[in-house]
Amino acid sequence: MKTALVIGGGIAGCAATHQLMKLGGWDVTIVEAAPFLGAGVRTFWYGGHPYTFGPRHFLTQNRAVYDYMDAIVPLRSCADHQFITYVERDNAFYNYPIHEDDIARMPDSAKIAAERESARGVAEAKNLEEYWVGSVGQTLYDKLIDKYNKKMWLVDDNKRIDTFNWSPKGVTIKSGSRAAWDTAWSAYPHAEDGYNRYFDVATEGARVLLSTRIERYDLPARAVWFGGEKHSYDVIISTISPDEPFGRCHGELAFIGRDFHKIVLPTEHVFPEHVYFLYYANDEAFTRLVEYKKFTHHKSPTSLVGMEIPSHNGKHYPLPFKSEQELARKYYALMPDHVYSIGRAGSYRYGLDIDDCLEQAMVMARQIAEGGRDHPVPIEAWR
Ligand SMILES: Cc1cc2nc3c(=O)[nH]c(=O)nc-3n(C[C@H](O)[C@H](O)[C@H](O)COP(=O)(O)OP(=O)(O)OC[C@H]3O[C@@H](n4cnc5c(N)ncnc54)[C@H](O)[C@@H]3O)c2cc1C
Repeated sequence: MKTALVIGGGIAGCAATHQLMKLGGWDVTIVEAAPFLGAGVRTFWYGGHPYTFGPRHFLTQNRAVYDYMDAIVPLRSCADHQFITYVERDNAFYNYPIHEDDIARMPDSAKIAAERESARGVAEAKNLEEYWVGSVGQTLYDKLIDKYNKKMWLVDDNKRIDTFNWSPKGVTIKSGSRAAWDTAWSAYPHAEDGYNRYFDVATEGARVLLSTRIERYDLPARAVWFGGEKHSYDVIISTISPDEPFGRCHGELAFIGRDFHKIVLPTEHVFPEHVYFLYYANDEAFTRLVEYKKFTHHKSPTSLVGMEIPSHNGKHYPLPFKSEQELARKYYALMPDHVYSIGRAGSYRYGLDIDDCLEQAMVMARQIAEGGRDHPVPIEAWR
C-alpha cells in the first residue's frame, strides 16, 4: 500500500481523499484542524434553519463534476436564481450581472448610453477599474462596481486589483434572462444537511484526524509532525496556503477573510421570488445577504439571512494581486515531486469554487495513477 497525507479537510481535501480511495491501493490520512470536515461548506443549524458559511451553491460547467456530486448528494436545480444589487444613489435594486433592462430604467440612462458608446473596451485594461470603465463606462462603474470591490477586497483603490480575469465570469452586461448564471448548472443539495453526507462518503476508509494541526513540515522529505511525532508519506496533498509548509520563508501570503452573521427574521419569506442574493454596492460594511431558504427549501414561519462582512478573519479569499500570485509561485517552486497543492488557498486563486476543487482532485488522481508528476494539477493555468 502506498501512503498519502491530505492536509485540510475542506471540500478539496475530502475530494482528494475520495479520488485516492477510489484508485485503490492507497492508505490515506486526512488531517483537519477543526473538529469537523467540510469547513465553510458544512451545514449547521441556527433557529432551526440549515445554513452554511456564505451561500455555497453548486455552480459548474462540467457535467462530469455535476454528476459526481449529484450521485453522492442529490442536487436540486436553482437555475432560476437571481442576484440583485442595491444602489443607494438611485434608491433602486438592479440585477447583477448588469442587465440592459435595468439600464433603461436608470435616471441617468442617456448619460450611460453615451459613455458605453465611447467606452475604450477592455483590450488594454491593466486593472479592475480600467476593465470595468472600459467595458461599461464611468457611471455604471461608479454605481455598481467601485465601492463594492473596494470593500470586497479591503482596498482604497481598485487599480490595485490587477488580476481580474475571474471578474465577472466574462459577463459585464447581459440581456434576456435575469438568472445570474445561465451559462452553468446551478444547484444545491436536496438534503436538509446539505453537503454533509459528501464529507462522510468521500473520506470513508481513510484515517480522519480531526482537531489536529500539522506542527512541523519537511516537504522535501515528504514528512510532517503532528501529535508530537514524525510521519512520512509517499504523497502529500496540501489544501492550505502554500506559504505555511515553508515557514513563510519568502514572506506571508495575504488573504481576506469574512465575518459572518446569521439573522432570523419574523417572516416566512424575505427576498423577492427568484432572488437568492442581495448585494450592496454602497458604504455599508457588508457585501451581500443570502436567504438560505431559497436554497434549502426549509419550511418555517421564520427565515434565516446570512450577512458577509469582509475582514481579516480567516483565509477565505486569495487576493487578485499579481504580486501575491508571484509570491505564491515562489512557494510552488519549492514543492518537491509528489507534493500537490490544490483547493482555493492551496492554488491561491479566487474564483476557484466548489466544482473546481472537485475537478482538481479528479485531475490530480489521474496524474497520480499515471505515476505522478512534478506539480500535477496545472495550478498556474487553473481558470
Ligand atoms: C463566504 C464564501 C462563500 C462561498 N460561496 C460559494 C458558492 O456559493 N459556490 C461555490 O462553488 N463556491 C463558493 N465559495 C468558494 C468555495 O466554497 C471554496 O472555494 C471551497 O470551499 C474551498 O475549499 P478548500 O477545501 O480548498 O478550502 P477550505 O474550505 O478553506 O478548507 C481548508 C481546510 O484546511 C484546514 N486547515 C487549515 N490549516 C490547517 C493545518 N495547518 N492543519 C490542518 N488543517 C488545516 C481548515 O480548517 C479547513 O477546513 C465560497 C467561499 C466563501 C469564503
